[in-house]
Amino acid sequence: MKTVYMDNNATTPIDPRVKEAVLPFLGELYGNPSSLHAVAKPVKQAMIEARQHVADLIGAEKHEIFFTASGTEADNWAIKGIVAASRNEKKHVITSSVEHEAVRNTCKYLTHLGIDVTFLPVDQYGMVDPDDVRRAIRPETVLITIMHSNNEVGTIQPIDEIVSIAKEAGVAMHTDAVQSAGKMPLDVGQLPVDTMALSGHKLYALKGCGALYIRSGLLVRRLIHGGHQERGRRAGTENVVGIVALGAACKLAAEEIGTEPQHIFDLRNRLEAGILERISHTTLNGHPKMRLCSTTNIRFEYLEGESILLRLSANGICVSTGSACSSASLEASPVLIAMGIPPQHAHGAIRFSLGRMNTEEDVDYVLEVLPPIIEELRKMSPLFPG
Ligand SMILES: *Cc1c(COP(=O)(O)O)cnc(C)c1O
Repeated sequence: MKTVYMDNNATTPIDPRVKEAVLPFLGELYGNPSSLHAVAKPVKQAMIEARQHVADLIGAEKHEIFFTASGTEADNWAIKGIVAASRNEKKHVITSSVEHEAVRNTCKYLTHLGIDVTFLPVDQYGMVDPDDVRRAIRPETVLITIMHSNNEVGTIQPIDEIVSIAKEAGVAMHTDAVQSAGKMPLDVGQLPVDTMALSGHKLYALKGCGALYIRSGLLVRRLIHGGHQERGRRAGTENVVGIVALGAACKLAAEEIGTEPQHIFDLRNRLEAGILERISHTTLNGHPKMRLCSTTNIRFEYLEGESILLRLSANGICVSTGSACSSASLEASPVLIAMGIPPQHAHGAIRFSLGRMNTEEDVDYVLEVLPPIIEELRKMSPLFPG
């Protein structure tokens, strides 16, 4: 059976060119980059190049990029590290109510340490109001952490305005740009955040490797103590394979940024319009315009997202019901709830997230398979009035 993978916000396939780039590091290039001998040398060199590619994708300097074991670690490090570095006696952090768990649960943890956290509300499209950020700032605010774009509904936050507010107030600003990298241009020169999190496996590289951008001169406490890797700021022998992959993926993303997002956007729009036209009682979740090219999150009223997902999966179509984690439990997505969507409607949400590998045929196939699935499920639904 044909597989149509439309769950690219959960993880992307590994680009064959990325795979090609890492193969030598699964073979003859096994040295420890901290060693001083000949076996280590090409490995050390490959890490330098990878760091440069990551820096280039976001307009940073090489020495501002630190490799981590995941996007989650990058978020943890930025948030805990900035808060710990602050000398304030009382500390306050501002975040949003639609963050990925990597940020949401890290901020929740801070509250257990006695740190005040404001979880800002969002509008019906999942967007934070910059004026709410301004109003939330207190003398003891040490960090604002708001995601660049949302993984579940794709809404892009007005980060440039929020950064200006943070700068004006002299408060450090972190952004989780895991979903934005490669899908839209990022430039820490024009968008002067203090830290930014990236992840390899959302960018056609490998799972288990991410990166944190730390603006030159910013004080961020260590999260991982040990050896002197990453210029003494993040210990542990480097995941060379993951790092080389991330570098190769960032280089490809930079090369494709002029054309690829538009291509994915066109496919996404055709899928979205086709679903909303062909199937009644469907509504888009997320911002109509300020939204990632990859993402369309649609709610199918009177149905459970899980039953739609399973039927699609039986036909080779892979999607998600919100975040990958909420697929395991049966709680309504906190992101959709924060957007004011009633739980019974939130339960009927399906996220289609497209990527580099998707084709027009994929979209046609979904538009052919999905309508009869919905019709059949609604016939069995006691809730459906028709
Ligand atoms: C996937 C994701 C993360 C976590 O990255 P991992 O590398 O999987 O730990 C963080 N934030 C967002 C928005 C994500 O989509």
